[in-house]
This record gives sequence, structure tokens and C-alpha cells, in this order.
Amino acid sequence: MSEIFHQVGEELLLLDGWQGVVAGFTTKQGGVSDPPFATFNVGLHVGDANPSVESNRRKLAGLLQFPIERWVCSEQTHGSRIEKVTRCDAGKGALHLETAIADTDGLYTEEAGILLALCFADCVPLYFAAPNHGMIGVAHAGWKGTVKNIAGEMVRLWRHNEQIPLDEVVVAIGPSIGSCCYIVDDRVMEAAEKALGMKEALPYREVSIGQYALDLKELNRLLLIKEGVPEQQIHMSHYCTSCTKDLFFSHRRDRGRTGRMMAFIGRKEE
Ligand SMILES: [Zn+2]
Repeated sequence: MSEIFHQVGEELLLLDGWQGVVAGFTTKQGGVSDPPFATFNVGLHVGDANPSVESNRRKLAGLLQFPIERWVCSEQTHGSRIEKVTRCDAGKGALHLETAIADTDGLYTEEAGILLALCFADCVPLYFAAPNHGMIGVAHAGWKGTVKNIAGEMVRLWRHNEQIPLDEVVVAIGPSIGSCCYIVDDRVMEAAEKALGMKEALPYREVSIGQYALDLKELNRLLLIKEGVPEQQIHMSHYCTSCTKDLFFSHRRDRGRTGRMMAFIGRKEE
């Protein structure tokens, strides 16, 4: 199977085939931050010196040709709260944490001209689009957001609040820690089983007593299918953020002291 993201320069992975939409994921290359945030850290909350993060974010704005005043960022808390945003929200969290949309792990909009942006270092980035409705969204799903089913929550909001039929929704599951590198305990497995509602379908492998290699990307895919998104409209990246050391920061691999990548999605104004 081919990879759904393709690398552009050293800084970017872009999502293929979503017409009129700029969507992708940053790498850790091409920025100005010092170790352990070297070099393209875009997280404002990780203890990296602010001028570096701002410089990295401004570089990304230039690469995407999406002015930083048009970005919308949220304060991510591993919850499942999702907010619909508009141009009135433009600039929130773009350069300062204090202005970010509070306690929110998913953003969506039907307006062109704003870039929805969230930070990642192993958690699963979820990209949503309904091309016929101009709707786009992004969500942050670590194990907590995954078992709280933020993926399902996004498509439920689109269905009920925006009247979008689920057969018009496409989803991309981006680079995150893979089951090759992600070991969890019984507590996480129990929450995952509860979320999916069936143990036999859980995507995991027991590696030792009480230790499981869990496939978070696949779990999100199964939750989306359960919610009613057609399987053939859900696409998944193969990248593991922990294995692919030269491209990605990894919270687990780097033992918590590391930078963040950004998942972004926006529609340019005509
Ligand atoms: Zn891996």
C-alpha cells in the first residue's frame, strides 16, 4: 500500500489528493530550535525558547502561504471537546498559548482562509473533509482521546449539526506512534475495549503479561467505521513517529523532553 503523505522539502509532509485543501504534518527538520527541540519544534508549551518557536511557526506560515494571523490553535488536553470555528477565531493560539481555544482537541470549519492547527508528538492526527460541503476538520487523539472517541465525535457533530451524510466524509489518519513502538497496560486496553465495544476486534498483540502493543491508528479507523464512515473513505499513514527518528519528535522515544510537530488543514480563499 502506498503512503498517503508525501514529503515536500525537509519540513513538510503533505496529504495527497484532497482537492482545494492544504493539509499535512510537519517534520522536525528545517527549524531553528536547539536540542531537545531541534530543530523544527512548533509547540509553544514544551519549554522551548519562544523566539525559536515563533520563528519556526512563521517559517511554516511562509511555506504553506497561510499567514499566521489566519491560524487557529487550541489548548489540547487529551479530551474529546471539539469546536466549530470561523474567521472570527483567526489568530487564536497562533503565537501565544493564552489566546488558544481552551480545552479543545478538535477543530472544524466550513470557512476558507483559516488554517486549523494542532500539535503532536506520537498522538494520532485525524483529518476530516466533506468536499461537497466545504467542511474540514482536525483532531488530536492520543490513547485518551481515542478511547473517548473524538474521531466519532467529529463525524457525529457533522452529521447532526451540519447535516452532512457520512458517505460524503473522508478521513485521513496521520503519522503517529505505531504498534511497533507503543506498549500499553491493562488500564488502557480496558478503556479501548469499552470504546470499541468488542474485544475480538481490538488491534493489539500481547507482548508479555499485562503488556500490549496497541495500534492506535487502527483503533481510530475501527471507531470511525463503527460510527458509519465508509471504510473505503478512511485512509491511513504508515509512518511511525517513534521509528522514523530523522523525521519526527517522539514523546515516548525522547522520554518526554522533545518538540512537537503540527497537523494542519485549511482551504485557501478562491
Ligand atoms: Zn515504530
